[in-house]
Amino acid sequence: MIVECYDIGGTKIKGALITDGNPYEILQQLQINSERGNPAKLLNQIRAMSKQLRGELKRQKIDAVSIALPGPVKDGILQASPPLHLHAPFDIKAGLEGITEPVFIDNDLNMAVMAELYFGNRPGNFYLLTLSTGIGAGIVINGKPLQGSCGEFGHDVLERNPNLANKCSCGKKGCWVAQASGYGIEETAKKHGLNISCQDVFDMAGEGNKDAVKIVEAAKSYTAHGIGNMLNAFFVDTLVVMGTLGIKQFKSIIPAKDEIKQYSINRVPEITATKFGEDIGIIGAYAYAVSRLK
Ligand SMILES: [Zn+2]
Repeated sequence: MIVECYDIGGTKIKGALITDGNPYEILQQLQINSERGNPAKLLNQIRAMSKQLRGELKRQKIDAVSIALPGPVKDGILQASPPLHLHAPFDIKAGLEGITEPVFIDNDLNMAVMAELYFGNRPGNFYLLTLSTGIGAGIVINGKPLQGSCGEFGHDVLERNPNLANKCSCGKKGCWVAQASGYGIEETAKKHGLNISCQDVFDMAGEGNKDAVKIVEAAKSYTAHGIGNMLNAFFVDTLVVMGTLGIKQFKSIIPAKDEIKQYSINRVPEITATKFGEDIGIIGAYAYAVSRLK
């Protein structure tokens, strides 16, 4: 079985051909910068990637196409996507009318959860927490992912002091994501007079800059509170972390168990970075398609 997989993010689009292996094999992989705010251009990008990926295949055939999208998906239609600057429903499937194979479309976090379920050897109850430009969680209880509007922990308001609270994309102030995502860290840095990137904040903190250390510690403290709230909602055996910020800065941004315990009535479980790294999106798209074709 060969699945043509896409992980469409606000910055990059990853495309890949993935097949069965031990347990899977990535045959081809491409990455380009996303066209934001223009559905027609985005469709053209997918068509061009598809042509390039299929060109490598020679006589083998594709069994399905699976697309992970950064936003809520209902009945196969992307409802909106702030990272892609799309504010109206977008029917990608209808736009890819030339494709004759089954096309699977879902939210990127729902698909990433399938990577952990299928290939991650995860126990029955776990969270998949994404720390990136957004913060949110996939929830798996008794081996089954919860569907629908859930896991929006990133919009828990954790900072109520108006001087410290950053503005959130949802319109509120002080959400976890507004305080401790890449964007949130940059906003807090501005309040310290530092107009620098999130990566710069971590680099400066690593060099011992006092302001930068304070900013990273504050982000870590919000994250302890956020994770504590998650554990109060559901007790899980493992909390898996994904997303660029969560993976790259795992050691700096993931709090110690004692710090999380201050906010949770439940035991703090093992916290680990996903072993799929930045490929979790395309591997999740593959697992999602396989689970539905079998
Ligand atoms: Zn918010």
